[in-house]
Amino acid sequence: EANRVYNFNPGPAMQPLEVLKEAQAEFLNFGGSGESIIEISHRAKEFDAVLNQAKADILELMKLGDDYDVLFLQGGASMQFAMVPLNYAVDGKVGNYVVSGSFAEKAYKEADLLGVGHIAASSKDVDFRHIPTQDEIKLSDNAAYLHVCYNNTIYGTEYHYIPETGNVPLIADMSSDMLSRPLDFSKFTLIYAGAQKNLGPAGVTVVVAKKDFLAKSPKTIPTMLRYSIHAEKNSAYNTPPAFCIYMVGKTAAWLKAQGGLEVMAERNAKKAKLVYDVLDNSDGFYKGHADKDSRSFMNVTFRLPTEDLEKKFVEEAKAHQLCGVKGHRSVGGMRTSIYNAMPMEGVERLADFMEKFKKANA
Ligand code: PMP
Repeated sequence: EANRVYNFNPGPAMQPLEVLKEAQAEFLNFGGSGESIIEISHRAKEFDAVLNQAKADILELMKLGDDYDVLFLQGGASMQFAMVPLNYAVDGKVGNYVVSGSFAEKAYKEADLLGVGHIAASSKDVDFRHIPTQDEIKLSDNAAYLHVCYNNTIYGTEYHYIPETGNVPLIADMSSDMLSRPLDFSKFTLIYAGAQKNLGPAGVTVVVAKKDFLAKSPKTIPTMLRYSIHAEKNSAYNTPPAFCIYMVGKTAAWLKAQGGLEVMAERNAKKAKLVYDVLDNSDGFYKGHADKDSRSFMNVTFRLPTEDLEKKFVEEAKAHQLCGVKGHRSVGGMRTSIYNAMPMEGVERLADFMEKFKKANA
């Protein structure tokens, strides 16, 4: 597709071209039904098959068994910030949080609003340049769970270990690194992600969690906010975001066809290395925000010597079909998001552009 740009935005982000083309080809007549996937009843068996296949493929990619379930919810990852404490920080128990970035802090604040939040560790005092280590995490008494944000989209940091929590359930916001690499996902009790980076269109949040944990929701909270209801009704308590689920399903099938998470991890590490090598070999022209041991494979954040050069970088990048490289206002500088669907050529073109820009402006 000659006119497609390389989109380095943090999300919504690039999606696999094969998936987009398949959806386009099927859009008017889904599976020979004579109607579009967005017209079909969410109670139709054809839609049920789409939803169940998407669930099965996600569990297969994550190598999880049938003690886990997959839910497709709305309200974005941000709704999960509230649902997690509403469902689990109950009966005098306290939601524990590692504050490693803006979204981690937003999650904590929802629990705090309810009077049930505890900060178990934070890297705020060092501008969120690193992920708190295991030693830094101090769980409170009566911990309901430990919540971590596994990849910090704005700061460009990512966990490179799975926190040990003993019997305390581990909950992770994986909005920006879901299905980007294999992990021992069985160590997590609940994982959630807004779809719009690695999984599909905005409008659906994927929740992967232990079935017995999902069943625990208190009956005293509003129905739509109870995990148990969504689990009992197979994500169709109300009208689910059918098109988004269909797209997530196609993306999961695409990931399987690529060779699964091991292959994605290898590619993602290669892509990230291309950009980090440019930073590290730039004699300080490009300054990475994240400490090296906390660097993200998904979002590479860096600054240039001056704000004028940063503006110029964004403009010239665009002329090379490299879009969305401007960083978040809270960090400044650049952020290049290189999720699963960003092709190697896009990153090669970016690295090449960065080298040339440095030579011309250093
Ligand atoms: N968590 C993380 C790590 C994110 O990157 C984002 C969005 N960029 C969110 C949560 C919020 O997601 P949503 O917009 O789907 O509510």
